[in-house]
Amino acid sequence: MRILVVEDEKRLASFIKKGFEEQSYAVDIAGDGKEAEFLAHTNDYDLILLDILLPKQDGWKTCENLRNGGIEIPIIMLTALGEVSSRIRGLDNGADDYITKPFEFDELLARVRAHLRRSHSTMNLVMEVSNLKLDTRTRKVERGSDEVQLTNKEFALLEYLILNKNKIVTRTMITEHVWDIHFDAGSNVIDVIVNYLRKKIEIPGEPKLIHTIRGAGYMLKDE
Ligand code: CA
Repeated sequence: MRILVVEDEKRLASFIKKGFEEQSYAVDIAGDGKEAEFLAHTNDYDLILLDILLPKQDGWKTCENLRNGGIEIPIIMLTALGEVSSRIRGLDNGADDYITKPFEFDELLARVRAHLRRSHSTMNLVMEVSNLKLDTRTRKVERGSDEVQLTNKEFALLEYLILNKNKIVTRTMITEHVWDIHFDAGSNVIDVIVNYLRKKIEIPGEPKLIHTIRGAGYMLKDE
């Protein structure tokens, strides 16, 4: 899952980025409303966290423009403006949710998960493919009765493959949803991580889950 954080306070922006990265999300930061619009139209985000008081263009206007521009992903406003009128204006301008600062990070994470479940029809609290289980809340992964320890990137990749099970997932799609803007397009890091993931989740004698689709990408098959 890839998130755009729109926040002009650099320390808060990097705190949020780090917190989400620890939970396997890929995060980009926009420091003003115009940059947010540009990035939202350039990259394929799963959710946007949007501050209101921003340089160049405030969050209300940014939200309205994003909606008018066809951006349909969940937008959560995250702001110090707690008055009822500010909340109403945020929701009326197209936001799905509104969280006031200071906030509890665990609550922010839970709300993000809730919105992602609603926007991705294939996302469940616990997702299962064959005898592989991934719990989106605890981030616990099991194959059969064995727990599998994954790195953040391996987990994010597996989650994305499961969300798109039985469909071809291209390297571009993986780049868009599992990596942030600093992804090096010339590297073979996706293939490397797919191989690490395979070594951890594939078990000899059990159905093979991750299939390479030559010239296209990968497919996680539910046999
Ligand atoms: Ca601000």
